[in-house]
Amino acid sequence: MIKKLLFFLLLTAIFAACKKDSMAPVNGSVDDAAFNDYEKHFLDEFWKLNPDWGTSVGYHKYDSILLIPDKKYRTKLVDFAKIQLDSLGKFQPTTFLQTNKMDYAIMQNQMNYMIWQVQQLKQYEWDPSSYNVIGTFAYMLNEHYSPLSKRLTNFYQKMANIPAYYKEAEKDLKNPVPELMDLAIEQHLGGLGVFEADFADSLKKTNIPEATKKLMLDRAKLSADAIKGYTEFLKTMKNDHPRSFRLGKDLYEDKFKYEIQSAKTAQQMYNAAVERKKFIHHEMAKLSVKLWPKYFGTKPMPSDSLEMIGKMIDTLSASHVKPDEFQSAIVNELPKLRAFVAQKDLITLDPTKPLEVRKEPGYMAGVAGASMSSPGPYDAGQNSYFNVGSLSGWPAEKAESFLREYNQYILQILCIHEAIPGHYAQLVYANKAPSMIKSIFGNTAMVEGWAVYSEQMMLDAGFGDNAPEMWLMWYKWNLRSVCNTILDYSVHCQNMQKQTALALLTHEAFQQQAEAEGKWKRVSVTSVQLDSYYTGYKEIMDLRDDYKSKMGDQYKLKDFNEKFLSYGNAPVKLIKDAMLAKEVKKN
Ligand code: ZN
Ligand code: ZN
Repeated sequence: MIKKLLFFLLLTAIFAACKKDSMAPVNGSVDDAAFNDYEKHFLDEFWKLNPDWGTSVGYHKYDSILLIPDKKYRTKLVDFAKIQLDSLGKFQPTTFLQTNKMDYAIMQNQMNYMIWQVQQLKQYEWDPSSYNVIGTFAYMLNEHYSPLSKRLTNFYQKMANIPAYYKEAEKDLKNPVPELMDLAIEQHLGGLGVFEADFADSLKKTNIPEATKKLMLDRAKLSADAIKGYTEFLKTMKNDHPRSFRLGKDLYEDKFKYEIQSAKTAQQMYNAAVERKKFIHHEMAKLSVKLWPKYFGTKPMPSDSLEMIGKMIDTLSASHVKPDEFQSAIVNELPKLRAFVAQKDLITLDPTKPLEVRKEPGYMAGVAGASMSSPGPYDAGQNSYFNVGSLSGWPAEKAESFLREYNQYILQILCIHEAIPGHYAQLVYANKAPSMIKSIFGNTAMVEGWAVYSEQMMLDAGFGDNAPEMWLMWYKWNLRSVCNTILDYSVHCQNMQKQTALALLTHEAFQQQAEAEGKWKRVSVTSVQLDSYYTGYKEIMDLRDDYKSKMGDQYKLKDFNEKFLSYGNAPVKLIKDAMLAKEVKKN
C-alpha cells in the first residue's frame, strides 16, 4: 500500500478566474497556456484553503495556520468550488493537449466533490474522527523538510487554534456514528504523545531561548488538554439516535463516482467482483487438485473444494523465511525482478532512478512488511524509498503468523506490487509526466490497480516458472482485493452483518480470523476506499483488451505498459479515452 495522508479539507478565501494572457507553449495552443496559468493560480488559492493538505504534499507556506472548520468555512469552500467550476467552464477542453484535458476533468471532478461533501455527505455532522489535527503536527515533527527550529515555530503558531478547533467540532456533531466515536477517541488518545512528549523532546534539540520554550510548552499543554477534553466530550455525549456507520446506497454511489472516478458504477463493480470470485475459486480448485499428491500423497482430498484449497494454502504457507531474514529476503528479490522485467521486455526501467531500500524509519515502526515512500509533488526531485520493516523484537507467535502470511510466494508478489514493476515503476513514469494536478489529486484506483495488474502481468510472463504454487498463492492474494470490493459494497449498501462478513473473509477468501476482524473494523470506519484495488485492476485489464483490438498486429505488451503509465496518476477512464482515441495527439 502507498503511504498517503488524508486530511480534512479546510478553506479560507475566494478566488476569481484569471485572464487568458499567457504565451503559447511549444507543444500546445494559446488555450493550453492559459489553462496552465490558471492551474497555477488555482493551486495557490487552493492551499490557502487547505493548509494541512498542503503541508502533507510539501507546500509549506501555510504550515503555521490551523483553520476552524465552522459553517462560515464550509460556505467558503462551496463558494470557491463554484467559482472554479465557473472558471473552468470558460475553457474549451476539446482543443487541449491530452494531459491538460485530463487535468481539466480531474479539477472539475474535485470541485464537484467538494460541494457534494459539504452539501450531501455532511461528514462533519456524523464523523467525530473527521476532526483531527494530530496527523499534520506529527508530520511537521518527523519530516525533515526544513530546519527543526523553523518547523517547531510553525508548530507553535499552528497550535494556537487547537482549543477553538475542537470547540467547533463539539458544536457541529449531530447523531454521530458510534464506531466513528470510538475511532476518534482511540486516535486522539493514541496521538497525545505528539503534544505531551515528542514536541518537548524536539525542542530540547534546538537553541530556541528558554523563555520562548516555556511559552511553547505551555501551549502544548493547552493543546493536549483540548484534545483530552474532546475525547471526554465524546465519551459522555448524549447520542440517542446515532447514524448508522453504513453509508447507504445513494451516498455510496456518489462517493464512488467522485473518489474512484470509474466509468462504471459501484454496483457494476460489485457484480464484476462477485463473478471474479467464482472464477478464482474455480481456478484455485484446479490448481489444488493438481498439487494435492505432491504435498499430501495418497491422503484423501476433502470433498468440499473450499476446504481442499484452504488446506493447500495452509501447507504452502509454512514455506517462509526466518524472522531475521525478512529484510534481506526483500532486498535480494529486487535485482531478480529487475532482471526478469528486462529479459521479458515488459517495461523500460530508468536506470538513473534507482530504488533505494531503507530500513523502516522509527516513526513508521509497527507497519511491518514493506511500503513505498514517494516524494511529494513539491519535492519530486527527491528519492523514492522502499521501506522494509524489521521483525526484531516481535513475539515468536506474532512473527510466525506474519511470516506465514508473507510466505516465500507472497513475499515475491509483495515486491512486485510495491516495487518492480508495481508502485515504484509507476512513480518513476508519473514523475516524467509532471502535472501538479495529477500528483495532488492522484487517483488511488489507478495507482493500486496498476500494482495489482503488474502482479498478474509478471506471472503471465512466466515469473515464478509458472509453478502452480505461485499461481495458487497469487489467486489468494488477488481474492483479497476482490473480496474487499464485495465486502465494502455489501456492508454499506446491502446491510451485510458482521457474522456473514467474517464468514466471507475466512471461508471464501482464506483469511485468518484476526485479519478478518481487522477488515471488519476497517469497513465500519471507512467506505469506498477498499474498492480501489479491484476496480483499478479490472479497468486496466479491460482497457488492455480494448487496446489490443485497436492495435491488432501492432500490439506489444511493453508499448501498452509504457503508454498507460506515461499519463501519470490519472483515472483509468481518462487514460482510456486518450489511449483509444482515433487520432492520438502529441503530448
Ligand atoms: Zn499498493
Ligand atoms: Zn513457520
